[in-house]
Parts: sequence; C-alpha cells; structure tokens
Amino acid sequence: MTNPNGLSAAELFERSPYALTYNDIILMPGHINFAPADVDLSTKLTREITLRRPLVSSPMDTVTEHRMAIALALCGGIGIIHYNCTVDEQVAQVRKVRRFENGFILDPLVLSPEHTIADVHRIKRQHGFSGIPITEDGTIKTKLVGMVTNRDIDFETDHSRKLREVMTTDLITARKGITLNQANEILRESKKGKLPVIDEQGRLVALTSRRDLRKNRDYPDATKDAKKNLMVGAAISTKPEDRERMDALAEAGVSAVVIDSAQGDSSFQHEMIGYIKKKHPEVQVIGGNVVTERQAEALIKAGADSLRIGMGPGSICTTQEVMAVGRSQGTAVYYTAKAAAKHSVPVIADGGISVIGQIMKALSLGASAVMCGSLFAGTDESPGEYVYREGVRLKVYRGMASLDAMKAGGNKRYFTEQQDVKVAQGVSGFVQDRGSMFDLVAYLSQGLRLALQDAGVRSVSQLHEGMVKGTLRFELRSPSAQREGGVHDLYSYTQPDMLSNQRGQ
Ligand code: GDP
Ligand code: 5GP
Repeated sequence: MTNPNGLSAAELFERSPYALTYNDIILMPGHINFAPADVDLSTKLTREITLRRPLVSSPMDTVTEHRMAIALALCGGIGIIHYNCTVDEQVAQVRKVRRFENGFILDPLVLSPEHTIADVHRIKRQHGFSGIPITEDGTIKTKLVGMVTNRDIDFETDHSRKLREVMTTDLITARKGITLNQANEILRESKKGKLPVIDEQGRLVALTSRRDLRKNRDYPDATKDAKKNLMVGAAISTKPEDRERMDALAEAGVSAVVIDSAQGDSSFQHEMIGYIKKKHPEVQVIGGNVVTERQAEALIKAGADSLRIGMGPGSICTTQEVMAVGRSQGTAVYYTAKAAAKHSVPVIADGGISVIGQIMKALSLGASAVMCGSLFAGTDESPGEYVYREGVRLKVYRGMASLDAMKAGGNKRYFTEQQDVKVAQGVSGFVQDRGSMFDLVAYLSQGLRLALQDAGVRSVSQLHEGMVKGTLRFELRSPSAQREGGVHDLYSYTQPDMLSNQRGQ
C-alpha cells in the first residue's frame, strides 16, 4: 500500500503484516521554512527530567563509567552507570559525576615526600602528566606540602632521590570555593602550570591545570539538577539485595535509576519500582525492558517514570535467536510509545542504533531518547584501553550477558546465581575508535537537526505531535528499496572512516 504523500505511522504499523525494523521504514520530506540551528533537540528522559539532547549511554561495563557520564551530561545527554561492580564502586562512580566541576580535577594523583623521582616518571609514562601535588602521606585530603613538576626533575639523573629533596615548597595555592575565573586569573599572574586548591586546614581538595583552563569551555546544554550538579543515572537489578544498592545510590544523589531486566514485566520489577517510589520519591525510575503495549501499561501502573524499549535489537545481542522472544525495534517503539504517551510517560529506544538516521526514526516513532551501547563504546571516554588489530584502532565492547561479562560478574540481568548452567544472550567483540564523545555528540546533534529540518519539523515534541496526528508521513521500504538507498553501482568507492566523517574532514 502506498499513498501520494506517504502513510501515517498508524497506517504503516497497524496494517503491516510484519513487525518492522528501523531499516524497513523511511520518512517523507516535509516543508522547510527554518534553519537547522532553529531545531530544538530538547526532550524528556523521564516524567521529571529534561535533556537538551536525546542521548543516553547504556549501563554496560564497556560503555558507561564516570568519564562517559560526565562527557555526555556536559553535552546535554545522560549516562547510566553500570552495576557489574560492587555497590561501593558504583556509588563512587556516581559521586565522581556529581562532584565534577568544570576545570577542577577533584581526584588528582598525589605522592608523598617519601616517593622518588622514579615514581613521577612512572606516572608520566602511564598517564601523560607530571604536575603532582605532594601531601603529607601521599593521599588527597591531607596537608599539601609541595608540588613536583617537570621543571623540578628534568635535569635529575638519579631517579632514586626522594621527592622531599626536589619538590617546590614555596607554593601558590587557592582556597576551596574559588571560581574558575579566579583560578584563571591566579594562573595567569603567577605563570604557573598548576594551581592546587586547599581547604582551611591546608588539605588538598583539588587541582587546576593551565592546559585545562585554556581549553575550558562553557557547556550551556549540560544536564544539571537544581543544585547545579551534573545529573547521572545508574542501573540496578530487580533482586531483593539490590534494595541496599538503591539506597546507597539515592544517598549519593543519583537522579534516575534504570531497572535492568531483559524482560521487564515481572512481579520482581513491579515490587522494586514500588519500593523505590515509596522510599526514594526524588529518584526517577526507568523501567524495562518492554516491547508490548501490555508490558508498558503494567510498568506504568507499577509507577515507572519512563520506559526502556527493546528486546533483541542490540548489536551484541543474541536474545531473539536464543530465546525466540523479542520484537523488531520499530514496531516495539511505536506501540510502547503510543501506550506510554497516554500517561505522559516518555520511552527510551534501547539498542540497534549505529547511525543518525536510526536515531531520527526512533524519535519519529515516539521515542523521547535513544540509548546507545556500541555507538559510544569506541570513544575516548568509555572504559578500557584502545588496542590495535591489523592496524585499526579498536576498543572492546561486550554484551552484559556475554560469557566474558558473566565471568566479570555480569550475570545480574540475565541469570540468577543459583543457575549452574549459563546460556549466553550476548557476544563480545570490538568496535572502532570514534574519538571523543564531545566531537561525536556534536556530529550526532548536527545530523539530527538536519534530519528534523528535512522532515519539516522544528523540535522533538513537534515530531511526536506529527506522528500522533498523522502529519508526519512514512513509507515501507522493500528490500530493493533499502539497497537503492545505500551506495550502489560504483566500480569502487572509499568508505569514509568514521572519525573523519564525524569531524567533517
Ligand atoms: P603536566 O604539566 O605534565 O602535569 O601536564 P598538563 O598540565 O599539560 O596536562 C595534564 C592533563 O591531564 C590535564 O588535561 C589534566 O586535566 C589531566 N589530568 C587528569 N588527571 C590528572 C591528575 O591527577 N593530575 C594532573 N596533573 N593532571 C591530570
Ligand atoms: P547497541 O547500542 O550496542 O545496539 O545495544 C545496546 C543494548 O543492548 C543495551 O542497552 C542493552 O539493552 C542490550 N544489551 C546489552 N548487553 C546485552 C546482552 O549481552 N544480551 C542482550 N540480549 N542484550 C544486551
């Protein structure tokens, strides 16, 4: 069935004999009378939380720890810290995001006067910096007694010398509470490379570096709470013992929790949502994962403030093959978003996003945001080191139900500890280097603005409105239409490498 101007989403999905993926559909162009810069990408993550960018990073141990969550929140999205770790470790990650202050290093590497020049060289080799505060016992929060920088040690040949003999003790410091502008001013006047920040007792609390201040930017789109701290989310399971994890996360100031479950419509999840809404009403609850209207209604009734949609579309996911349960993501997003909209509950399309067009399609079908694993896993800010395979720079990316992640403790979502036979529902692999999240989010945002402009729509909320009213038009793509829409019929062509594409080079 076609129509001169395409079909409404309802006509497309409700009459289709098949469930549809993002690739099966295409949007019809709209009328343009505005510039891409006029497009507003603000959206709802949950009933109460608004984001300036519809981007969420997945709670996976190769995707989201504090560096990812900080970068994404600065850019207007939000990161969900994974829970393949102890409660204390997860809470520490949340605190790092919440404590982040632009330009201030709150956990600088510190040495004591008894360490040696060799220790400074080791840090320089491992981390790339050499400006090290020296405190009484070599830990932060004790009294600052000196600084060691390159200039203190670059002519030294005896690397066994103690730092007490070479450190600079005549220090210029700043007091806790100083603003970035004031720190800037002191560094400019003193011509120093580092400025340690101390409290009333002379204990080290932070470090600022000239290099950071130089490149310091304002992040007007940052996702912040009323106290002006960056917002962060965290994942928990539905197990009774995770109530303690929940309490600790709430205490640390987490803004939202994702209840991580492959099949979200369970009484365990309903009970967990009830517990959180009663004990921690200030924390927003993202329930899931769900793919049907019935499941969505059940979680909303249980009290969820947002839903995570997807069963099987993830790049590392083998659930549909192994379990024979799941749903094509386009159809899943369409029906769950439609059900949730009746209750003003946003839905997050989780998994299967590798290009801008898929984000656009997810939003067009009613999702308020997308959750990404593989797309963000290859960035500088994801956990883990880059490795080279056949000359290509890569990072490890693994499903949380892969055998690898299970070995590291990742059986929370898909298994119970009592199960002695484990059936993996995910794989482990590599993704390509994608550079910094700051560049990647800028690239995705600009692409999305252009996509919305082509559809003749100025904002995510207008997109949703158009979908509901049927003014946003779609069409089904045959397999050959999908081939036609890709590159074809060239003798050869150069696949743009992702990084240059991102940077517009
Ligand atoms: P240095 O003079 O050799 O210490 O290096 P720079 O000041 O030129 O660069 C240090 C970079 O590493 C800055 O971007 C810092 O924000 C970053 N950095 C991250 N953690 C630390 C830390 O614990 N100590 C120091 N000195 N820098 C850090
Ligand atoms: P991606 O963005 O890589 O396509 O998908 C990420 C999503 O896949 C995650 O947010 C999560 O919902 C899902 N996921 C993560 N690990 C696994 C796994 O091991 N098995 C399955 N079935 N899904 C996973």
